[in-house]
Amino acid sequence: MKKILLTICAAMILLSSTVYAEEPFIDKFILWTAHRDELIDEYTLKHYGMICREITPQAVVVHWTAFGTLESVWKYFYAEEMPDDEGRLNVASQFIVDRDGTIWRLMPETNFARHIIGYNHCAIGIENVGGYDGREDLTEAQLAANVLLIKYLHAKYPTIKYVFGHYQQDAARASGLYIELVPDYYAIKIDPGPKFMRGLQSQLEKDGLIFYDP
Ligand SMILES: [Zn+2]
Repeated sequence: MKKILLTICAAMILLSSTVYAEEPFIDKFILWTAHRDELIDEYTLKHYGMICREITPQAVVVHWTAFGTLESVWKYFYAEEMPDDEGRLNVASQFIVDRDGTIWRLMPETNFARHIIGYNHCAIGIENVGGYDGREDLTEAQLAANVLLIKYLHAKYPTIKYVFGHYQQDAARASGLYIELVPDYYAIKIDPGPKFMRGLQSQLEKDGLIFYDP
């Protein structure tokens, strides 16, 4: 009997390690005080009509930073207030992928982050260091890291159904997830480019995730 129980236990450990693989990222959290929570409350009430400090992830949105290094982007996201917007909530994303494919997590992944107009209430953001001068220069290591991270997130949060690039924000309205209460609040985006999204789509579509034509 003891032997059978041990065998079952070992099988369960094996199963759970398959479903929840080891975390593929390193934590490097940005500043988070009660003040960030206040700024999030203000932002989410104004733009989504609800207070939303915690999200139920339904989409993953992929970005490029267009500037800087991992360190300088992290320093920019670290602050709670946006420097040029009179102290309103700063931009951030849940993850940043460096050019060598190292994945950094900036906050618990269901925390609210301001990274894409209309979808922050339900989307996890992945920033990729690169896209300088609008060039599609993201690396193969970044592509592999994004595939790994999205697979990990999809296994952990089966509520995730969509993966799209920031530049696909209009096409993604077909998901029904878009909410924006402020009229004309919109920004044209080109990140992370169709080449990167084609790469992600070809490796992830078979996982049952929905993509939009790159
Ligand atoms: Zn973006």
